[in-house]
Amino acid sequence: MSVADLPKIELHMHIEGAMPPAFARGLAQEKKIDISGIFAGDGSYRYRDFRDFLRVYEAATQVLQTPQDYYRLTRAVLEESAASNVVYTESFLAPDFCGGGDVTAWRDYLGAIEQAAAEMEREAGIVMRAIPTAVRHFGPEQAKRTARCAQETAGRFVTGFGMGGDEAMGRQGDFAYAFDMAREAGLRLTSHAGEWGGPESVREAIRDLRVARIGHGVRAIEDPALVEEIAEAGIVLEVCPGSNVALGVCRSLARHPIADLRRRGVKVTVSTDDPPFFHSTMRREFNDLSEVFGWEAGDFDALNETALEAAFCDDATREAVAKKLERDDA
Ligand SMILES: [Zn+2]
Repeated sequence: MSVADLPKIELHMHIEGAMPPAFARGLAQEKKIDISGIFAGDGSYRYRDFRDFLRVYEAATQVLQTPQDYYRLTRAVLEESAASNVVYTESFLAPDFCGGGDVTAWRDYLGAIEQAAAEMEREAGIVMRAIPTAVRHFGPEQAKRTARCAQETAGRFVTGFGMGGDEAMGRQGDFAYAFDMAREAGLRLTSHAGEWGGPESVREAIRDLRVARIGHGVRAIEDPALVEEIAEAGIVLEVCPGSNVALGVCRSLARHPIADLRRRGVKVTVSTDDPPFFHSTMRREFNDLSEVFGWEAGDFDALNETALEAAFCDDATREAVAKKLERDDA
């Protein structure tokens, strides 16, 4: 058995960012929206750098206009994940793209997404949980509206709250109010930091937002004291190696700090972020890590174990997923 075939847990994936390009084109055609400019000749998404990536990303989301569109998107995305033998996935959902942050509209979108997730759990055995996510460059006021959406729908399916988007906008602490709202609703917290921002951004997310997990966080490696702190506190990093290489956070996988962080006792997990944008799948991530760092099945078992522990789900779900991870030869 190749490590690429192992069952997997994914904690960091944006549902819009996981939209297969062919799906986006199909929906654009149905709705007569011209998004042809965002595709390369081979049909994949095309962008120049991170800022341009955000622009293309938001252009692609224009085709997603109704709960029904998100129902179809969720099915398409989970089909791709299941094909990589992902057995449990946490997906970032942006209420900003699902009804503009309006709670009533968000409920409709979320209902459609949850229905698709329930169907895919029955059909393909993949379990999904949702993390409503503020878009950082929309600002702290909009983040509060996002947190309100998360608060109102917290439960078995909506289990966390997060923040993504352009790290250059404001500071983590500017969003503390939104994160406090989410925490009070019992949601578990994660924020993107240490991808474009330096180690200080990771410190701020931990100190000012009191997150349990950091989206990316790989630039913590620039500060040995911070690495130690993270390891000691048990903060989990949602590392997305393929994304980091594709967007130029790291020059190559060989130079990626994931193995080093892991050696120093940091709890790392592996995810795809926005897979089709980075020509990535969970299968490919596992395969590449094994090729470049020589990781074997036991390393990936440990990775899964960390991810399962860090998953924002209830214990009954955690136990059910643990069963899906068991292998005959383990
Ligand atoms: Zn992300």
